[in-house]
Amino acid sequence: MLHGRLPDSTIHEIVKRSRDRVATASSTMSNTKAYSAASSTSRLAPTTIRRRDPGERDVQIEILFCGICHSDVHSVRNEWSSVMPTTYPIVPGHEIVGRVTKVGAAVKKHRTGDVVAVGCLVDSDRTCRQCRSNLEQLCANGVFTFNGPDKQLGGVTYGGYSERIVVDEHFVLRVPKGLDPAGAAPLLCAGITTWSPLRRRGVTEGMKVGVVGLGGLGHMGVKFARALGAHTVVFTTSPGKVEDAMRLGANEVVVSSKAAEMQKHAGTFDFILDAVSAQHDVDALLNLLAHDGTLTLVGAPEKPLAVSAFSLLMGRRNLAGSIIGGIAETQEMLDFSGKHGITADVEVIPIQKVNEAYERLLRSDVKYRFCIDMASLKAG
Ligand code: NAP
Ligand code: ZN
Repeated sequence: MLHGRLPDSTIHEIVKRSRDRVATASSTMSNTKAYSAASSTSRLAPTTIRRRDPGERDVQIEILFCGICHSDVHSVRNEWSSVMPTTYPIVPGHEIVGRVTKVGAAVKKHRTGDVVAVGCLVDSDRTCRQCRSNLEQLCANGVFTFNGPDKQLGGVTYGGYSERIVVDEHFVLRVPKGLDPAGAAPLLCAGITTWSPLRRRGVTEGMKVGVVGLGGLGHMGVKFARALGAHTVVFTTSPGKVEDAMRLGANEVVVSSKAAEMQKHAGTFDFILDAVSAQHDVDALLNLLAHDGTLTLVGAPEKPLAVSAFSLLMGRRNLAGSIIGGIAETQEMLDFSGKHGITADVEVIPIQKVNEAYERLLRSDVKYRFCIDMASLKAG
């Protein structure tokens, strides 16, 4: 029996019993209001979830604001089913700013009353090579803020579309004083996801940088690229965003459907950050890179992108990818934002408008990040 495979029904029973055990052991849990989706075709609707009471190293946070990332939409609709299938019900949200309401006995970094933030990660193994190099986002045992394995309560983790969250202090960030909390929330994903590759590629004064897709990520990419001193060019499919792109800091804006405008920039970029959420022509963008230039994909479209080998061979170009950033790097980005007064441009909405916001996000109709005022969840 020890070496044989157990029948599925037995495995299910064992898993269920272990979950029941965890639930009984953690009698110190609180009910928390949240919004969840029951299936890939369901609308988000009010629900109640459980949160653990803070353990020794945990911080309990009352959530004030939570940004709406396009990844929330991909996940709710199970568009990444081949890579990370969604477990339902799902409570999305990983751009969290809140106030500390309780801390465990061993917590050193945060105190009750502090304004803090939580991004896409709530755990990792802290022992692997990646964790020891401050690259928790690459840890094979990393736990995402939602739809990750919940080691304490069983099942999956629930994200920021909720009243409160309990997180190990290592994954809780300090929000610099003076930053508007609603505008700061999107820094926890859109901010770090664009900051990390810009820093990794050494973006600085004298470099020519492209940012593709002026959405939540893209508009943060523009702000950071400019703050780092680069000549920044926005590529957009939306002619109506040209003025905004300039206001956000772009030196130039190209409407990508205009072939002649694209051609003017051929072979000239040191770095291009591609933050597009859907199918698009990556070859056309690769051809804009100078030799040895790099295009980093941060956008995560549902379907594979086509790339011609020649777009890479000619000019010895690089195609790369990047996922969020480590915890220390996230704090560095927040501190930089505090120093330079950088936040996201947000449209603050009550949670009751979340389904409408998803539809607008899919039409690229957001300027430039929806952010949920979580007080609305208490109200209704
Ligand atoms: P978003 O606010 O919806 O922005 C995406 C932008 O892409 C749109 O505003 C639009 O910009 C452009 N776009 C949309 N459809 C397009 C199409 N068919 N062809 C060309 N351009 C199109 O989304 P977001 O929250 O910034 O997220 C962007 C992507 O990054 C998503 O796939 C998300 O899941 C992913 N993401 C990745 C990470 C990571 O760690 N790598 C982290 C967070 C998010 P224009 O109107 O300017 O063309
Ligand atoms: Zn995100």
